[in-house]
Amino acid sequence: MAISACEICGKPFNDAIGKICSVCVKKVDETYTIVRKYMYQNPNNCDYISIIEDTEVSDKILNYLIKKGRIEVANKPGGASRCRACGKETSGSAVCEQCMARIVAEKLTSRKNEQPKAGKKPEDKNTPKSYHKFTGDR
Ligand SMILES: [Zn+2]
Ligand SMILES: [Zn+2]
Repeated sequence: MAISACEICGKPFNDAIGKICSVCVKKVDETYTIVRKYMYQNPNNCDYISIIEDTEVSDKILNYLIKKGRIEVANKPGGASRCRACGKETSGSAVCEQCMARIVAEKLTSRKNEQPKAGKKPEDKNTPKSYHKFTGDR
């Protein structure tokens, strides 16, 4: 048993249950529900500032949810979002343009590679008609 400071409110608590105190666990869950609902209802307007202003959730808790990866928002404070693949700053999207292009290209390539396997094998049943015989008529 150990006592830690809650990551959100800073109060000391018994850390057997996690990194945050039981009061904040409850607040985090409430905030999560509120924010998810807001994002669902406002898919085009769910950047960090709008969430705070419209739902009046605690920015501390929102930051915590973002840090834990439970919620993803555009326009996080302190700069743009970062690409999940390479870590480069993006204009709010989860993956930067280069990585997006690469991912799309990789998908196309893997699909191309799968096609011949899935397809039929025409050569097996009908043996090739034209053998190249070496008759030696010279
Ligand atoms: Zn707390
Ligand atoms: Zn990237």
